[in-house]
Amino acid sequence: MSLRPLIAICGTTGVGKSKLAIELALSLQLQTSHSTHGYNGARIINADAMQVYAGMDIITNKVPPEEQAGVEHLLMGFKKPGEQYVVGQWVRDAIQVIEETHRRNQIPIIVGGTSYWIQHLIFPNRLASLDKLDDTDKRPSAPMSETLAAAVNCLPPKFLDLYNNLPKQLPSDSVDSESASALYSLLGSLDPQMAQRWHWKDSRKVLRSLNVIKESGRLGSEVVSEQNQVNEPPRYRSLLFWLYAKPDILFPRLDARVDNMIQRGLLKEVQELIDIAKSPPEEQTYGPGSDTDSPQFDYTLGLYQSIGFKEFSQYLSMPEGQEKTKAYESAVGRMKISTRQYAKKQVSWLRNKLLPAAYSANAAMREIGKLPVVPTYLLDATDLSSWKENIHDIAERITRDFLEERDLLDPLSVSDTAASLLSLPEKDVSPTAVLNARRKIVCPVCTVNPQQPVLIEEGKEWKAHVATRFHRKMQRRAEHGHEWEARKMSREASRNTIGTSLDVESDSEKVE
Ligand SMILES: [Zn+2]
Repeated sequence: MSLRPLIAICGTTGVGKSKLAIELALSLQLQTSHSTHGYNGARIINADAMQVYAGMDIITNKVPPEEQAGVEHLLMGFKKPGEQYVVGQWVRDAIQVIEETHRRNQIPIIVGGTSYWIQHLIFPNRLASLDKLDDTDKRPSAPMSETLAAAVNCLPPKFLDLYNNLPKQLPSDSVDSESASALYSLLGSLDPQMAQRWHWKDSRKVLRSLNVIKESGRLGSEVVSEQNQVNEPPRYRSLLFWLYAKPDILFPRLDARVDNMIQRGLLKEVQELIDIAKSPPEEQTYGPGSDTDSPQFDYTLGLYQSIGFKEFSQYLSMPEGQEKTKAYESAVGRMKISTRQYAKKQVSWLRNKLLPAAYSANAAMREIGKLPVVPTYLLDATDLSSWKENIHDIAERITRDFLEERDLLDPLSVSDTAASLLSLPEKDVSPTAVLNARRKIVCPVCTVNPQQPVLIEEGKEWKAHVATRFHRKMQRRAEHGHEWEARKMSREASRNTIGTSLDVESDSEKVE
């Protein structure tokens, strides 16, 4: 059976995603008389993690009802502030409304800045992130796989004991290198492929990998190869529009939007959110549509993470005075910075995660001689005065061709911006590639104690490392036989490098 169609519109804030969605929905209503695809209108499905919350229309930046032009907007404003709602729940809810929309012979248009959600919706089990391994199959008493059982059997008694009694928590302030190195050696004996991803000093990640192995009853590398086999096709034939505006134009636009939000009463909403968090949950009624199990509330998540809340909540609790005036200005400044940073993150997710996934799905179709299953277009919304030619008309034409399953316009031909941002170096996103990426290798020159090796990531970090003054000095001294001095330096360096990935630049400075 062929896949049902879906349109997804993503991009940063302030590029007109909602506007385009409404325009496309309206044009799909009109098209029915002279189009051959047979769909009759569209419904808009929200994919913005903040807009799922009810009220708080300014901080969430919802489209006001008068601008919705009578087009249905779903999964919007149906959760209470503080109520938890995560990607898995959204995907489940979205699948349900998409099916319902298809049954009505209408097109679902997914719109929102939470590209992570959109990616999970389109690509089942495709997010090849090993950090998600701990969500898979987390059964406390999962039976051990044969591979894991064999690996456990081979453990020396000391490690077996450690495996059976993994520490519950690591001391957060200082990590003692003895137990850190023991944990790492344990992981290395069980699952070398998994171990090479972490630095031995990064006990938090090492311990997490060990816990994942224990709880799932399988080695990380096993889970990954299983995921590789289950390379499921996309859930829908998905037309992806990425609305984009160049930073030098977008950023001032975002600044103005922050000022406008404040003018329209942002601070009143922040105060409301503070008040809600203070009132006990019993006083809050659960609206219809909430889950049968009572919803979980957490006033550090959801809207409480929104840009605007963080920046202004502290200011609102300050006593009146000169300090408060200063705090206000700094909150406005910080909110503008956060908004820009968020926009940069959104673009980088689209380019580095969503695009490669779409391309690899399309490549698989090309191999069997079929049309792309996730055709992806970048529309340049930098100059809003040419919206009709640059956005509306092109999007309408591509949509019609897509729904009628005709050959599509070459995405790179749409604009120069599209050509440059849509061409990516072919990157392997398979779970195995992810597992093998960021492999740490031992620097023999800087390693003095083999139990506590100096580990450097392959590639760029390694290149940077061998160029550091520290490494060069170690090499020179080793060559000249000043071994005791080298040892001393290495000990100092290892004391200074407890943390996540080894930051060689700063280490060498501390050593100097
Ligand atoms: Zn070195």
